[in-house]
Amino acid sequence: MDRLFLSPPHMSGKEQAYISEVFESNYIAPLGAFVNKFEESIKSYTGTSHALALSSATAGLHLALRVLGIEKGDVVLASTFTFIGSINAIIYQGATPVFIDSDESWNLSPELLKKAIVELNVKPKALILTHLYGQVAKIDEIVAICKEEDIYLIEDAAESLGASYAAQQSGTFGDLGVYSFNGNKILTTSGGGMLVSENKEWIEKAKFLSTQAKEDFLHYEHREYGYNYRMSNVLAAIGVAQMEVLDERVQRKREVFEFYKKELAEIDEISFMPELNKSYGNRWLTTLTFEKVEPMKVINALEEVNAESRPLWKPMHLQPLFSDSKVFVNGSSETLFEKGICLPSPTKSTNHDLSRVVEVIKRLCS
Ligand SMILES: *Cc1c(COP(=O)(O)O)cnc(C)c1O
Repeated sequence: MDRLFLSPPHMSGKEQAYISEVFESNYIAPLGAFVNKFEESIKSYTGTSHALALSSATAGLHLALRVLGIEKGDVVLASTFTFIGSINAIIYQGATPVFIDSDESWNLSPELLKKAIVELNVKPKALILTHLYGQVAKIDEIVAICKEEDIYLIEDAAESLGASYAAQQSGTFGDLGVYSFNGNKILTTSGGGMLVSENKEWIEKAKFLSTQAKEDFLHYEHREYGYNYRMSNVLAAIGVAQMEVLDERVQRKREVFEFYKKELAEIDEISFMPELNKSYGNRWLTTLTFEKVEPMKVINALEEVNAESRPLWKPMHLQPLFSDSKVFVNGSSETLFEKGICLPSPTKSTNHDLSRVVEVIKRLCS
């Protein structure tokens, strides 16, 4: 039995031809035609005006905080139910993360966001909002709160490329948005990220900082410090080929979800991550919770049929690293972490491949 991975790379078949073009041009560098093409394809797909291809989404989040002027001592609000990549940039800037719990959407609770803003004795500068597992958060409410309170909104859309709310793409609602092309995301360049915004100055500043902050001189002149965060032209070639199949990948991810949901519909103790009204998620990973069966029991049983599964993200406020951090909780993410798992959601799979996951869950829940 071939291993069923959570979300393995799924090439379109054009990648190697594009990489060959890179080799023929000899632009084996973090600049070149494919970096531009990749940025263009993200702009046209998501409807955003400016895009910057980077070595990772984490780099994108870091640059976002830097261009917004977030620095030591500033408070940055963030989803607690997320992956650490969403938070590390706050630490890089010496800023202080304050964590906000989820609600029934599994994503950030607008109620707790309001509460945090009222109860904190310093005004938060920014919010990093994760669209978890490719499902869009309550974005209209969250945008309204951030506007009213004058807080920058950075969307961590690392998992949600191709997901939309009211036909607008995730990552384009806030001041800045970030997508990831890590090996396990819906599209991959083996590693990479993209920073997007409507604000041209921010993206230009981020580009400057991402290439060692070199001033415009023939010699090397520096007034501030930068990073080496730009994406390589070789990897951008993979990205261009991957963008051509994004719609197909989203469609198949959604079919995988629908298959699991239909096959497991009889089991009362199971709940899947919801999809909000007007939103269209990419269902990057099918995720569900169990009321009675121990998640680790399911994970171990799936391992026996060579299927990869994992617990849901462990909330940031439960991480030893953040034991001293402030958090606004209601119990949601802790419960999800206790009860939930991610199922193998490969786009290359057939429904037949997925049935061995279904069989295991049916057996354990009967
Ligand atoms: C994957 C991921 C990141 C990090 O992306 P990289 O491209 O690996 O830096 C950040 N946030 C979330 C929510 C992610 O899932």
